Amino acid sequence: MRVEDVSISADELTVVAAATTTPPRRCPGCGGRASRVHSAYRRRVVERPAGPLRMVVHLTVRRFFCDESSCPRKIFAEQIEGFTERCRRASVRLKA
Ligand SMILES: [Zn+2]
Repeated sequence: MRVEDVSISADELTVVAAATTTPPRRCPGCGGRASRVHSAYRRRVVERPAGPLRMVVHLTVRRFFCDESSCPRKIFAEQIEGFTERCRRASVRLKA
């Protein structure tokens, strides 16, 4: 994960970051390679508070095409190990 910007307001620490998984990426659907970027989107992840500040990460995540033509998923979004899980708004660490 690459941090691009950090800003602090009265009650919130805002981090702008980009997911930077390195190739070869593996499709979670079939385990095949994925070398083509489909699109990118920004997701908002609420992190564990940093002291009195709420911590919000705006994370740019890319979607990839699976290279496997028979893949049931075909398109998937990259995940940051230990940080985001698919379809979650809170980070994994908040569960601990
Ligand atoms: Zn696949």
